[in-house]
Amino acid sequence: MYTTEFLDLPPLQSAAGEVHLPGSKSISNRVLLLAALSHGTTIVHDLLASDDTRVMLDALRQIGCSIDETGNTVHITGLGGRSPQSPAQLFLGNAGTAMRPLTAALALLGGEFELAGVPRMHERPIGDLVAALRQLGCQIDYLGNDGYPPLRIAHTQGVPPLALARPIQVRGDVSSQFLTALLMALPLAAATQAIVIEVVGELISKPYIAITLALLARFGIVVQHDNWQRFTIAAGSRYQSPGSIHVEADASSASYFIALGAIASSASGQKGIKIQGVGLDSIQGDIRFVEAARAMGAMVTGGPNWLHIERGAPGVGWPLKAIDLDCNHVPDAAMTLAVMALYAQGTTTLRNIASWRVKETDRIAAMAKELRKLGATVEDGADFIRITPPAQTGDWKAASIHTYDDHRVAMCFSLAAFNPARLPVRIEDPKCVAKTFPDYFEMLFSVSRVAIDSIPVICIDGPTASGKGTVAAAVAQRLGYRFLDSGAIYRITALAALRAGLSIDTAHEPRIASMAQTLPVRFEDGRVWLANDDVTEAIRTEEAGMNASRVSALPTVRTALVALQHSFQQLPGLVADGRDMGTVIFPNAPLKVYLTASATCRAERRYKQLISKGFSASIEDLRADLEARDARDSTRSVAPLKPALDALVLDNSTLTIDEAVEQVLVWWQERQPFAVSAQG
Ligand code: C5P
Repeated sequence: MYTTEFLDLPPLQSAAGEVHLPGSKSISNRVLLLAALSHGTTIVHDLLASDDTRVMLDALRQIGCSIDETGNTVHITGLGGRSPQSPAQLFLGNAGTAMRPLTAALALLGGEFELAGVPRMHERPIGDLVAALRQLGCQIDYLGNDGYPPLRIAHTQGVPPLALARPIQVRGDVSSQFLTALLMALPLAAATQAIVIEVVGELISKPYIAITLALLARFGIVVQHDNWQRFTIAAGSRYQSPGSIHVEADASSASYFIALGAIASSASGQKGIKIQGVGLDSIQGDIRFVEAARAMGAMVTGGPNWLHIERGAPGVGWPLKAIDLDCNHVPDAAMTLAVMALYAQGTTTLRNIASWRVKETDRIAAMAKELRKLGATVEDGADFIRITPPAQTGDWKAASIHTYDDHRVAMCFSLAAFNPARLPVRIEDPKCVAKTFPDYFEMLFSVSRVAIDSIPVICIDGPTASGKGTVAAAVAQRLGYRFLDSGAIYRITALAALRAGLSIDTAHEPRIASMAQTLPVRFEDGRVWLANDDVTEAIRTEEAGMNASRVSALPTVRTALVALQHSFQQLPGLVADGRDMGTVIFPNAPLKVYLTASATCRAERRYKQLISKGFSASIEDLRADLEARDARDSTRSVAPLKPALDALVLDNSTLTIDEAVEQVLVWWQERQPFAVSAQG
C-alpha cells in the first residue's frame, strides 16, 4: 500500500494480464455464518482477510465449529443441528456483519452468550433487531445502553417456545442488516412450519438483501418475497453445506479493471484484462456495470467467477461511445463511468445519482471538480453529472487529483493516466484506497504497460560518506518510488565471486562477469538475498566495501550488471543511488543530483557512525582516508567519480538529512507539470 502524501502515475500506455481481486467483505461474513449453521463441511475459497472476518472466525470457533485455515481457503464444519458451545463471551470488534447476524442466530440456537465489541460498536444500533427477536420470545438483555451492544442472550434452558405463527415484524429503514440477520437465523426454526417476516417502513439497500437471498439459496434455504416487503421462509428448511463455495470479489472494485480493459489498448502478445473472482452471474448488484461498459464499447465476456475485457475495435468500440444512463442500480460503480466518459466521443450524462451527495464525500461535487482539472467540461446538478471530454489531445491538463478521503475517487481517477496527451496524473493521499482495496495501485501497475522512458528516474551520486544512500532512500520513500542501491549490487557481486572461490582480479574477470550476468539477487522488505542466503549484514562490512571497489573497477563486470540495474526502472518510478547512475545507466534521467560535503564534515559523520557501532576511530585518520579515496575515485579510469554534466550539485555540509531530502524533492516538483492546486 502507498502511504505517501501523493502518488504520481506516469502516463500509462496499454494494459494486459490477469488480476485476482480480493473477496467481498459482506459476502465473506455471510458465507462463514451460513457454513457454521449447516450440516457438513464447507470449503470456503477466496475469503477476504480483514478485521471483520477475523472476529467472525474466532467467534465461530468459540461456539464449537471446527475451522482450518490455509491462506484464503477455510474449511469449516458446521454445527448441523448440534447445540453451540456455551456459555461463551464473544468479541466482535467493529464488525456489524458479525454482531447482527450472530445475535439472531445464537438466540435461535440456544445457550448463554455475551456479545461485545470495540467502543464504536457499542454506539451502533441493534435495538430493532433485538425488538424483533423479543417479539418471538427470545430473552436478550442489554449490558450497557438500551438499544446497543454489548448484550447477553440468556437461553440457559435451550431456546424458549417461539411465537412463529404470526409474521415477525422488523424495521427496514435503519439498516438492512437487521433483516439479513433474521433471514439467516429463522430457517433454524422453520423445520416444521413456514415463517413470515414483514418489513416495516421502506426497505433500504435492497441489493444487499438480494445477496443474502442468493447465498441462502446456495445453502439450501428457499425464501420467497413479495415486493421486498414480505419474506416467507419455506417449511422444512434445513441448512445444507454446498460443499465448496467461492467468495466473490467486490463487484464495485471490479469496475476499475473493467474500465481499464475498455480504455487501454492490449499489450503486445496479450489481449485484454482477465478478472478472477467475480463473474457475469455475480449476486452483487454492481455487476450490472458490465452492461454500461458494453454500451460504451467494451467487449466483455465472462463465466462463473471470471470476466474478460477488451477494448473495442477502432471505430466500433473505440473511442468509447458517450451514454445517457440512469445509474440508480450501480451507484458506486457509476463513478468509474464518469472517468470513462473522458475517453468517449460526445457528452455522457449519468442520472439519478443523488445518493452520491451523501457518501464518503459529496461525490457529484468532487467528481465535477476533479474532472474539470483534467480539462473536461462538466455540468452537475442535484442528481446528475454531464461530462464532455477535452476536445483535442492538447486540451488535456496534468492534474493533481484531490481524493477527499474517498477510496473510490482515488481509484477511478487513476484511469486518467491513459490520457492521449501522455500526461502524468497525481493522486493525492493514495492510502485512502485501504478502505476496500489496500493494494489497488500495485494491482493496477501489475497489468499496466508503459514506455520505459516515461518511468521517472532520479539519480543521486556523490563521494563516499556524503549521505547519498540515506538521502536517496528517503526520497524514494517520500515518492513511493523503488530504490536502487547500486553499491549493494557491486558488494553482492564481490561476495558471490569470493564464495565461488574466485579472487577478485583481472585474471578472473570473465568468470566474474558471467556470474554477474545472472546474479540471483533479490531485495525484499529491507533484506538482501543472494539465492537463498540472507546477505544483508555480510555485504555491509568494511571488507565487503573494499572488495566491491575492486570488482567495480573491472569493466566487463560493470557491463554485465547494466541489465540488472535497468530492471529496477519500474512503475511508478525509481531513485537510483551510485557512481554512474546519471552518466551510464540512466543518462536520460530527468533529475540528477550530485550530493557532496566537505571532507571534514564527511569524516565527522563517519566518525559518529563508527563510534555508535562501538568501533574506535580517529577523525584525522578518517579525513585523510576520505581525501585519498576521493582522489583515487575521481582519477580512476573506469567509472570515475564525477558529477554528470547536467547534475545539480547539493553541498550538504551544513544541511540535515531532512533538509537535503526536501531540497531534492523541491527540484523534483519543479520538473513536474502539475499546476499547484488551490485547495490543499
Ligand atoms: O556505495 P557503496 O559503498 O556501497 O559502493 C561500494 C563500491 O562500489 C564503492 O567502492 C564504489 O566505488 C563502487 N560503485 C561503483 N558504481 C556504482 C556504485 C558503487 O563503482 N554505481
